[in-house]
Amino acid sequence: MTAPYDHYRMIPSLPAKITEKRKKPKIVAVVDEDNCTGCQACVPFCPVDCISTVPKEKYNIPIPPVQIRFNECIGCSICARVCTNMTWDAIDMLPVAQFESEYKIQLTDEKSPPYGIPKS
Ligand code: SF4
Ligand code: SF4
Repeated sequence: MTAPYDHYRMIPSLPAKITEKRKKPKIVAVVDEDNCTGCQACVPFCPVDCISTVPKEKYNIPIPPVQIRFNECIGCSICARVCTNMTWDAIDMLPVAQFESEYKIQLTDEKSPPYGIPKS
């Protein structure tokens, strides 16, 4: 039988300090905005602080979902583990090639522009 609060062992530690991306990762986090409660539990766990709130105008609801600044993400999966183990299950980790193809966004070795370069 699972001891009370055992599931908390699955939760990563908060980052000791905020770092930044140094090269293009192999996987990237994508929030399912229709599934995200906007609880923001994942936000402080990101070691590069690249999770932000979707602008309120997009959905016009009191608590908007969060989004990833894709080109700043280092693909560590911590946010997805936090979301799955603490709250919901709204973050997918996608291979970068799949992400770039599906979302028509080019990621780079740099962290700018924050959301990547739109592909035509
Ligand atoms: S923890 Fe999950 S549900 Fe909460 S804001 Fe982050 S992605 Fe959304
Ligand atoms: S995978 Fe999640 S926690 Fe890790 S850098 Fe990307 S957005 Fe931040």
